[in-house]
Amino acid sequence: MRCDARPPSRPQSVSAPPLRVAILGAGTVGGAVLDGLLHHPERLASADGRTLVVTAVAVRDVERSRPDGISASLLTDAPAHLIADPDTDVIVELMGGLEPARTLIAAALGAGKPVVTANKSVIAQHGPELEAEARRTGAAFRFEAAVAGGIPVLGPLATDLAGNEITRVRGIVNGTTNYILSAMAEEGHPYDEVLADAQELGYAEADPAGDVEGDDAVNKLVILARLAFGRWIDPSTVGRRPPTARGMGRPGITGVTDQELEGAAALGLTIKLLATAARRDDAVEAAVVPTAVPADSPFGWTDGVTNRIEIEAEPLGAVGLAGPGAGGAATSSAVLGDLLAVARGLGSTWAGLPPATDAAIPAVDPLDGPRRWFAFVRSARTSGDELPKPIARAASVDFDDGTAIRTAVATLAEAQAAFRAILPDDADVTLYPVDD
Ligand code: NAP
Repeated sequence: MRCDARPPSRPQSVSAPPLRVAILGAGTVGGAVLDGLLHHPERLASADGRTLVVTAVAVRDVERSRPDGISASLLTDAPAHLIADPDTDVIVELMGGLEPARTLIAAALGAGKPVVTANKSVIAQHGPELEAEARRTGAAFRFEAAVAGGIPVLGPLATDLAGNEITRVRGIVNGTTNYILSAMAEEGHPYDEVLADAQELGYAEADPAGDVEGDDAVNKLVILARLAFGRWIDPSTVGRRPPTARGMGRPGITGVTDQELEGAAALGLTIKLLATAARRDDAVEAAVVPTAVPADSPFGWTDGVTNRIEIEAEPLGAVGLAGPGAGGAATSSAVLGDLLAVARGLGSTWAGLPPATDAAIPAVDPLDGPRRWFAFVRSARTSGDELPKPIARAASVDFDDGTAIRTAVATLAEAQAAFRAILPDDADVTLYPVDD
């Protein structure tokens, strides 16, 4: 059985046959995409595009009951057959994970079939080869949903902002970690407790490592950097750990404490997992580290699962985009928009940008330049007279159990030396970059 998404009244491209769509995956995102295709065809009409018809849905378990409208005859557990099927025109990959998703996407592009996906892991890990394959066969490869769910950001980077030189992209791009940090800051509860609540509420997965250790945000940053700076960067080279006075802290937000958030608040700051990429000559600086931002700023106000991305560009200046960064409904908006773009023959997400098919380059660490640093020091050896410069000129607030310090502008090496000078020999402290 075919489920025709032809709308009843709006104008259609009359000459071209419908585009036959195979959806791989009918979970959180796939289910919402199918809901749009099957139950809201009136939203999916364009005056100059082909109509969309769902011809197959691949799932792992064909016996499991599915929402209304997904008839059993559409279901298969053999996604590879759909790629090879001459009756499939376009593939929508929403299974997630690296394999078999990567192989299926590459095969579809290799066969010249357009692919729409939300799979940031596959794109970030295999960007150059997939882009090369899409360019070789001319198949459209679209992945707006892979970054910040429902927020349109890749399309604008490749089209509306294409006349600019993008200098920096920063974002809160992971809703799970932002929910945890916001709840810790608001409620003053420790990380483990808030993570357990988030898991219960469905905001964090049973295995939260991919989110809380920063890998998910790294994947999104790699994709943003491709669109902003024209190069794929190697995700394994993007830093995910904040520095400490004596080395490196724990990855992502896993080392952030409620004490640190309380101390930051006393200095007018809050801590957010900020993904940042910037152009540096021919290289790209990139990192995903917990960063102290002014509490009274657009990033500071971005609470809960909301995402926010700021793009700095010449001649534009700065522009900010905020909204729902995950969830089936919001993410389906981006997938359906991409499907409509395929139906209208609009090509790949990178639109007219030059190819980026060379091997991925290593990211440059952005934390080596001078900046302010925030730290919560539990026990200090020295006070008063002979404090090292970055700390002597700092803002600080004393608590019963320590001192919150925002340093003067200093390089990382200077800040580390200053904190080592006041810490007991066996103590360390996390140094959060301040982005103000
Ligand atoms: P999900 O709820 O776990 O759904 C995955 C779907 O794929 C299920 O229907 C599953 O079948 C099917 N599937 C998995 N492996 C398969 C295989 N080998 N063969 C056939 N079918 C298979 O995942 P999701 O949350 O919708 O995420 C899908 C993609 O969207 C991921 O790449 C994710 O990173 C991305 N994304 C998700 C969100 C979000 O908010 N969830 C936001 C942005 C991007 P069964 O139903 O039979 O298990």
